[in-house]
Amino acid sequence: MPKESSRREFIKRSTKGAAVGGVTAVAVPAAAAESAPKPLKTAHTHQSTSICPYCAVGCSVVVHTLGDKSRNVKPAIVHIEGDPDSPINRGTLCPKGASLEEFVQSDRRLTTVQYRAPGSREWTRITWAEAMTKMARRIKDSRDQGFEATDAQGRTVNRLGNIAMIGGCTDTNEINYLLSKFRFGLGLLAYENQSRL
Ligand code: SF4
Repeated sequence: MPKESSRREFIKRSTKGAAVGGVTAVAVPAAAAESAPKPLKTAHTHQSTSICPYCAVGCSVVVHTLGDKSRNVKPAIVHIEGDPDSPINRGTLCPKGASLEEFVQSDRRLTTVQYRAPGSREWTRITWAEAMTKMARRIKDSRDQGFEATDAQGRTVNRLGNIAMIGGCTDTNEINYLLSKFRFGLGLLAYENQSRL
C-alpha cells in the first residue's frame, strides 16, 4: 500500500465525524468522556442565605435548592455551605455546621407543631394557628394573674414575674428587637438569650 494511502486510512480510522465549515469533529474516546469533569450539583440551584441554628456564633450559610418554584415542583435542598460574604464566618463552617444538609434532610426532623396536653404522655400534631391561639390564651391568662402595677411600698413597677422568655442562638438583631418590644410591653422581666440581651 502506498505511503500516502496508508496515512489517509490511518486518519479515517482515527477520527469520526464530519468537517463542517472547516472544523473537524473528533469523537472523544469513551474513557476520556467518563473522566471529564461532571457538572457541579449546585450548577442549577437557586441560593438563599440563612443562619446555622446550632450555636451562638451565628455563622451564615448559603442554601442551594433545586426547583424552579413552580407549584407542582417540590424544592429539594442539595447543598449547604458557609457564606463567603459573612463577616462572621467568611465561608467557613465547623463540622457541626457542615452537616446541616443531613439535619435538614433527616426523616426524624420535626416539621410540625407537637402538643402535649397537661398531664398527658402523648404528643399530638396541631397546626400553627392552634398553637398560636393556645399560646396567646396562656400568656393573657398568666399576665392577668401575675401582673403587678405597684410593689408593696406602692411604687409603680408594671412588672410581670410569672412568665419567662428564652431566645435562640439564631435570633437576629431584628428578632431580638421585636422580642424586647414584646416583653417590655408585657412587663416581663425574666429573659434569657445567648446574645445576652
Ligand atoms: S457552623 Fe459551627 S460555629 Fe458556626 S454557628 Fe454553626 S455550630 Fe456554631
